[in-house]
Amino acid sequence: MTEQNIDLYKELKKYFGFSQFKGLQEKVVTSIISGNNTFVIMPTGGGKSLCYQLPALVLEGTAIVVSPLIALMKNQVDAIRSMGSDIGVAHVLNSSLNKTEVNQVKADILSGKTKMLYVAPESLTKEDYIQFLQTVKISFVAIDEAHCISEWGHDFRPEYRNLRSIIKQLGDVPIIGLTATATPKVQEDILKNLDMPNANTFKASFNRPNLYYEIRPKTKNVQGDLIRFIKQHKGKSGVIYCLSRKKVEEIAQVLQVNGISAVPYHAGLDAKTRAKHQDMFLMEDVDVVVATIAFGMGIDKPDVRFVIHHDIPKSLESYYQETGRAGRDDGEGICLAYYSYKDIEKLEKFMSGKPIAEQEIGYALLQEVVAYAETSMSRRKYLLHYFGEEFDEVNGDGADMDDNVRNPKKKTEAQDQIVT
Ligand code: ADP
Ligand code: MG
Repeated sequence: MTEQNIDLYKELKKYFGFSQFKGLQEKVVTSIISGNNTFVIMPTGGGKSLCYQLPALVLEGTAIVVSPLIALMKNQVDAIRSMGSDIGVAHVLNSSLNKTEVNQVKADILSGKTKMLYVAPESLTKEDYIQFLQTVKISFVAIDEAHCISEWGHDFRPEYRNLRSIIKQLGDVPIIGLTATATPKVQEDILKNLDMPNANTFKASFNRPNLYYEIRPKTKNVQGDLIRFIKQHKGKSGVIYCLSRKKVEEIAQVLQVNGISAVPYHAGLDAKTRAKHQDMFLMEDVDVVVATIAFGMGIDKPDVRFVIHHDIPKSLESYYQETGRAGRDDGEGICLAYYSYKDIEKLEKFMSGKPIAEQEIGYALLQEVVAYAETSMSRRKYLLHYFGEEFDEVNGDGADMDDNVRNPKKKTEAQDQIVT
């Protein structure tokens, strides 16, 4: 099919059951269907998957979708399969398949059944796969989580750096990069590494007008403050992020002792316990999850009413991602972070063992966190500026939704007397 004779709304309804595109989706889909290199920057939950899934379904050939995590791929493929039987089939090619399964996937691709082939970047480096894919009609290559290509992103993966040269071997196929990381540095890196300086670029706003941002100095009494806050929001769902597993356990216990229904979540718990605690939170058997950053990937609970950072995160990207889990339903979402310079020093110490280049980036990202925490200007303006977006702090959407704007005050100086 060509761009002209595709009724996008009909296809949208047929495959996804939606009557409307979300945000920039229609423009992105049109760009891809027209065969252009395309770059998509949308916040998490913005609907990036559909941007390449719909073109994959209507274009001739197979679209290759590069995704960093096997779990994410499986989720997506299951979701596509559950959409109905006449839907274009999606397959995964990765190290978890045995020889027979690989051959089955190959056969499906050759028969034209497979509209989307999900691959991990390291699988794509396999000579055997490259040779096979050279014999296949490829509609385009979509690179999801494209920030993994950049050392300035929060999740650098060296294998992503090989993608461009591999794609070149597959012929002259269009490339679609997608990410929720909005910093100009990461974007530049992506365009440069994928060698597509003239890609059609679509960037959605990162403003979340319903989120309220507040930074509190982290004093000795942080736990008491935390308990008071949660009790004031009794019965509401919330996530509390801590830096270490030990801290997670400690805070979860303190909350429980104080009559708050809370469970811990971190990578040190066995898979069964983790799944149980996550389900309890989703089913509202508990109000609060106390967690390390291990919690949240792919968690889609719409009515999380507060996200609290007991410990300040290592970058504003992380802060934005984690706070972004509040108020997905556009209802209330309070984002509270405790800040002390001691915690910054702790984070610096973590980095000291790493390679120099990585350290330098880490320090630079951390300085942005410090500046954000200590600023007296509109937090929303600061955050959005960091993501390369201008925000009108007088009339913009959500302009009064932070502590600095509501209570203009002198700078929040880092407290030094604290114990953590
Ligand atoms: P992202 O990858 O940008 O984080 P997803 O692709 O996972 O976002 O989509 C987020 C949610 O938005 C999903 O639940 C998806 O079904 C929904 N969604 C996507 N496009 C539309 C649309 N056009 N109309 C309604 N819901 C949509
Ligand atoms: Mg996504």
